[in-house]
Amino acid sequence: MRLNNDITILVNKENPLTKDFIPNNLIAVDENENNFHNFIDPNMKPMIDKSAYEDYLKLISKAKEDGFILTIDSGYRSFEYQKVVLELITKEEGEEYASKFVALPGCSEHQTGLAIDFAAIHNNIYDENLNDEEIEWLKNNAYKYGFILRYPEGKEEITGYAYEPWHYRYVGKLSTLLYENNITLEEYYLKKDYYYSNEKNK
Ligand SMILES: [Zn+2]
Repeated sequence: MRLNNDITILVNKENPLTKDFIPNNLIAVDENENNFHNFIDPNMKPMIDKSAYEDYLKLISKAKEDGFILTIDSGYRSFEYQKVVLELITKEEGEEYASKFVALPGCSEHQTGLAIDFAAIHNNIYDENLNDEEIEWLKNNAYKYGFILRYPEGKEEITGYAYEPWHYRYVGKLSTLLYENNITLEEYYLKKDYYYSNEKNK
């Protein structure tokens, strides 16, 4: 089943996607040749939902203007993919480690095609570890292009995830409201009416 994506969809441990959720708008991100770490197929290019693509390109290009070469490490991941990764990591690192760091199939936002793990090019070499300046730049600018830092520091209890400076989620125009109120997607859904009425009164 391929579904139209709602770009503000909430996906987390309490709100998983079904096995057959596949966004119908996936588009390959062509710009990076050799840098995607796909556990199953190293030749597979990262894909994201088409609705996020243009803003992604704008973000990358503004970052470049500001001196940072950002790229995509990982975008869409299927339910099956997540299952395989979980099995692999469980086998290699044990169940406790895997349960901490790998989302259960259906619970990964990457299945929406709207999540991006950013990486960077440092001295012409692909580096999946962003440096402090890049992390800071994304924090301050990504929302202008519809992306939010999905698992911020200090909100671990709310999101259910450890701080991930590389993981951003496309939510479109909603990003400004979330950024300005310093709230996560979870907090927004809890108090949606409140935030909307506040917006109107501005
Ligand atoms: Zn991620």
